Amino acid sequence: MRYFIICTALVLSMSFPGQAGKPDSPVVKADWERDFLLANLEFTLLHEFGHLIIEEFKLPVLGMEEDAADRLAIIVMMREHQHESAADFIPWLLSVAGGWYTEWELKEGPKVKLDYWDNHNLEIQRFHNIVCLIVGGHTDLLEDVMDTEFLPFDRAVSCDYEYKQARHALNWLQSSYGQKSIVALKMDAVKVFYKTPREGENKAIFELIKTSQVAEKWAQKLSSSFKFPRPISVEFDNCFGLPDAFWHAPTASVTICYELLSHFSTMIKYRREHSTRACGIPILRKYMKELMSCT
Ligand SMILES: [Zn+2]
Repeated sequence: MRYFIICTALVLSMSFPGQAGKPDSPVVKADWERDFLLANLEFTLLHEFGHLIIEEFKLPVLGMEEDAADRLAIIVMMREHQHESAADFIPWLLSVAGGWYTEWELKEGPKVKLDYWDNHNLEIQRFHNIVCLIVGGHTDLLEDVMDTEFLPFDRAVSCDYEYKQARHALNWLQSSYGQKSIVALKMDAVKVFYKTPREGENKAIFELIKTSQVAEKWAQKLSSSFKFPRPISVEFDNCFGLPDAFWHAPTASVTICYELLSHFSTMIKYRREHSTRACGIPILRKYMKELMSCT
């Protein structure tokens, strides 16, 4: 029987420079680093919330649950940020796609054995799936991404359909299980807890995410949207150097490892040093120039 749903790759961080074991890392300060980290935190939280919603409401799932959780997360993010300016929300969304592309690139470089048997799509597939949904929902802004290596033509032609299909699924979820009356809701049904972070990078990450209130915001949104059969906890924890996140059904808890957030921080630093190809695509350069450190 499966209890844990492990949602992120574990191997990469071991070979990252400046990752686990770094004695006194500075608090993340740069806007580009903070935004990348928080966008990926938001996606991770929503992905895990996808698992918990599937579990708690016993939703039927056709296809892979991991893929469903990815699609739910990015569609919710698109809806959440739709009223912001394109200059704000496009880099925010593409930071999530960029995270998966970077994971793949880092894995591809040292020729790590690929887990084709895994219940997660390969990182490069998760990247293309997410890009497809973002472009499908914002064709007016991102049409120029189509027919590039980031969204080949043969895939691009179905992105409008895929986006509408995912949006329809979200609408169905809300109309079927969302609470219409706020009276019946327990507004703190989903609570956030922070385990005392280890000194160094974990402590720096803790201070950043606690200040951002991203987890508290989404916990409150979840509490006010659904009536869950039992209390849910979201816990930030030290994970012995493993950059992971998972939903644990027996205890109704989502765990986010401080090390995963640190991993995101390391990824964006790598990305900025290896951005030549992405910077060469004008539309990506337009929205991501600062984040990717395009020259
Ligand atoms: Zn997952």
